[in-house]
Amino acid sequence: MLCLDHWIAGQRDHGSSDRAGTVYNPATGEASAEVPFATVADVDRAVAAALAAFDGWSRTGLNKRATILFSFRELVRHHADELARLIVHEHGKVLADARGEVQRGLEVVEFACGIPQLLKGEFSENVSTGVDSYSLRQPVGVVAGITPFNFPVMVPMWMFPIAIAAGNTFILKPSERDPSPALMLADLWKEAGLPNGVFNVLHGDRVAVDRLLEHPDVAAISFVGSTPVAKHIYETGTRHGKRVQALGGAKNHMVVLPDADLELAADSAVNAAFGSSGQRCMAISVLVAVGDAAERLVPLIRERMQNIHVGDGMRPNVDMGPLVTQQHLDRVRRYVDEGVASGATLVADGRDVPNENGGFFLGPCLFDHVRTDMSIYKDEIFGPVLSVVRAKSYDEAVELVNASPYANGVAIFTSDGGAARRFQSEIEVGMVGINVPIPVPMAYYSFGGWKDSLFGDAHVHGTEGVKFYTRAKVVTARWPQSATKGKNLGFP
Ligand code: NAD
Repeated sequence: MLCLDHWIAGQRDHGSSDRAGTVYNPATGEASAEVPFATVADVDRAVAAALAAFDGWSRTGLNKRATILFSFRELVRHHADELARLIVHEHGKVLADARGEVQRGLEVVEFACGIPQLLKGEFSENVSTGVDSYSLRQPVGVVAGITPFNFPVMVPMWMFPIAIAAGNTFILKPSERDPSPALMLADLWKEAGLPNGVFNVLHGDRVAVDRLLEHPDVAAISFVGSTPVAKHIYETGTRHGKRVQALGGAKNHMVVLPDADLELAADSAVNAAFGSSGQRCMAISVLVAVGDAAERLVPLIRERMQNIHVGDGMRPNVDMGPLVTQQHLDRVRRYVDEGVASGATLVADGRDVPNENGGFFLGPCLFDHVRTDMSIYKDEIFGPVLSVVRAKSYDEAVELVNASPYANGVAIFTSDGGAARRFQSEIEVGMVGINVPIPVPMAYYSFGGWKDSLFGDAHVHGTEGVKFYTRAKVVTARWPQSATKGKNLGFP
């Protein structure tokens, strides 16, 4: 079996641990690799390498940094298909979806290529006679990114292109369930000319993460994952004086008003609920049907679900791959059982999908008449399970969404511009779609939810990302011209 390594100071490094995890191909259930779990000593070595590289990298000229980013962008484009295949092999999503993930990650690299423009400060001439003021943004130092399994390329790329472009050095702790793409990205950075130690990869679990959170030489932490872990990261990291952005889980609602284009709404619900087997933080997991919308919409959704082909994501014509692990499959199946037991109507049952070659497969599931006290409504399932909740009015729908502790994404489907405008203002969620089911912001906007979907102030990428990875400084300068003005003890 393939044995993976960490990537420290520009080279593969097996680390000092005797603990390791197993990586599976979710489409076959076969173990494909062993991934080492970093020890405290391994983390300390990676941080030392990143710290040693910081001085030189942060002083490297902006154009030189941008040139390396442009090269990295070209290399990722050139190897996009290989990266996508690696994602399919360890995550299980279908190839077209994996290609889309690489593309969305690349867009952040492209945004970061504009770093000379993004880091421009402000300048005020003559704030007092002969005195000028100007602002700078400087890198914070060694930063760490801890990322989830569901986007092993895109989510790390929300972070490191901007962090590195801004002059920081970076340690990526990818998910132990699909760790290989991170190593390929490390190889590509090296080929692009990035100095050793600027980008490092550490594999592992809580041991590695907790050391990063406590390490005095780590200045900032970006985290994306589930809400309980996000909260732990935020609390521990900030207690140790670090800047932290911790994006958590989600339970995204799609509100459908009776005047919506229901064919479009049905297509959108199916794509957004079952794409990547529901393992997206922006997946739609609750459809709130207002008035009589459910009567017409549920049959349209069920009809479309019959055409979803479940299977190995490498095969053409497959729409939906397996879940990431057997453990996750068991957990999602338990939720479906609980939904049935609690009295929701199971309109489409994915539990009987043929289990190809021992892979971790579950077909798409649709529940109707779901109540807000049921676990299938309350919990983040992160699988191909869509719940329909019926609401009498627009107001009831908004109240229901706003009562959720999660607030990552939300969508409204309607042909009433006034209702949509009211919704965008009244809804307490970080990312809003209007007749768009997965409103993922482009790289030059920032991505992030509210409430339990994000701990910290800064969203990722876009200008908030640039701000997160830099510190502001304001300089007030006077250069002696002729004589000084002598004594003045007043407040300047
Ligand atoms: P996870 O929270 O289990 O793991 C995320 C990362 O944290 C991994 O690198 C993992 O090794 C590490 N980790 C896990 N448990 C830990 C612990 N106790 N202490 C320290 N580190 C720990 O998440 P996951 O299952 O890999 O990913 C799915 C979750 O991520 C879902 O909840 C999903 O909504 C969320 N997610 C959120 C966003 C967003 O933008 N808000 C994006 C993608 C995924």
